[in-house]
Amino acid sequence: MKTYRIAVVAGDGIGNEVMPEGIRVLDAVGRKYGFGFHWDEKPWSCEYYAKHGHMMPADGLAQIRNHDAIYLGAVGFPGVPDHVSLWGLLIPIRREFQQYVNLRPVRLMPGVPSPLANRKPGDIDFWVVRENNEGEYSSIGGKMYAGLESEFVTQLTILSKKGTDRIMRFAFELAKKRKRKHVTSATKSNGIAITMPYWDERFKAISAEYPDIKTSSYHIDILTAHFVQHPDWFDVVVGTNLFGDILSDLGPACTGTIGIAPGANINPEKEFPSCFEPVHGSAPDIAGKGIANPIGQIWSGAMMLDHLGHGDASDAIVAAIEKVLKDGPRTRDMGGTANTVEVGKAIAAAI
Ligand code: ATP
Ligand code: MG
Repeated sequence: MKTYRIAVVAGDGIGNEVMPEGIRVLDAVGRKYGFGFHWDEKPWSCEYYAKHGHMMPADGLAQIRNHDAIYLGAVGFPGVPDHVSLWGLLIPIRREFQQYVNLRPVRLMPGVPSPLANRKPGDIDFWVVRENNEGEYSSIGGKMYAGLESEFVTQLTILSKKGTDRIMRFAFELAKKRKRKHVTSATKSNGIAITMPYWDERFKAISAEYPDIKTSSYHIDILTAHFVQHPDWFDVVVGTNLFGDILSDLGPACTGTIGIAPGANINPEKEFPSCFEPVHGSAPDIAGKGIANPIGQIWSGAMMLDHLGHGDASDAIVAAIEKVLKDGPRTRDMGGTANTVEVGKAIAAAI
């Protein structure tokens, strides 16, 4: 029996409550489909930081480099600045393991109230593909003439040919596997005069390799409006680090509660482990109460299985989630009264 070695970083707050439910469901689907997991739990978190002065040990990345994947809950806690958890754990993982794709589904599920009127399940079903390693989030730049009237700051945007082409190829490869076969590019080449025209140029060049895939391109401003007004137009949407960041929060917000949205940071070549984590954070306001919605964590587990090559088992988890969203039990954020464990057990049982 194939056994996957998974680094488990439950993290802080509700991360510790939703993670056991993710593991419960993955163990259940593994039993059904004939594979198993070795869960290598790492205590890396803000709590760990408070004790040790760092988010993970110095050889932390080396400890998990040869694992099959990283399953993450949520890190961050009041009193520990965001940049500590980000730069002390999440960003090193993304960069060291070349997880240059951030992937999130935008999918309206049954039983989930959407803030968009008159939409039913099936109407909204697309993926946001965000470039995750370069773009606008470089640390290159600086301040000159500090303190003087003439002071100014600059920050560089990096779009390498390699980095741009590979994120686009990922988007086209994903579209190839889908029914509608359509890739939309987020751009702003009317205002950002050097990098975004280059983005458009590479989009055109890569699209030529995929003659069967339909393409569209919108400026980011009108694209955000289309997300809200015409979410049915989209199949796969690809954007730079900044634009993708915006779209990958807007998309899940259009399809309901933050508690169910999953995400992944992927190294498509599988040279290094990819990382799967819910969109939500550690939710200190509800932590310790056992009421957090575990579906974002569980759905992230489904994305992990798809990445590991178990598309059927992944689909089985999503189907079980859909069943429980429709029939209950539901946590409070979805208008129910169930607790975290009850929802996790119901999804595992549906498998
Ligand atoms: P962090 O700094 O870790 O990102 P945060 O409080 O800024 O934490 P979230 O943790 O995403 O951001 O929480 C935003 C809001 O959504 C909070 O009110 C939280 O209670 C709620 N929330 C987040 N995740 C869930 C969940 N899984 N189930 C129910 N409510 C949730
Ligand atoms: Mg936050």
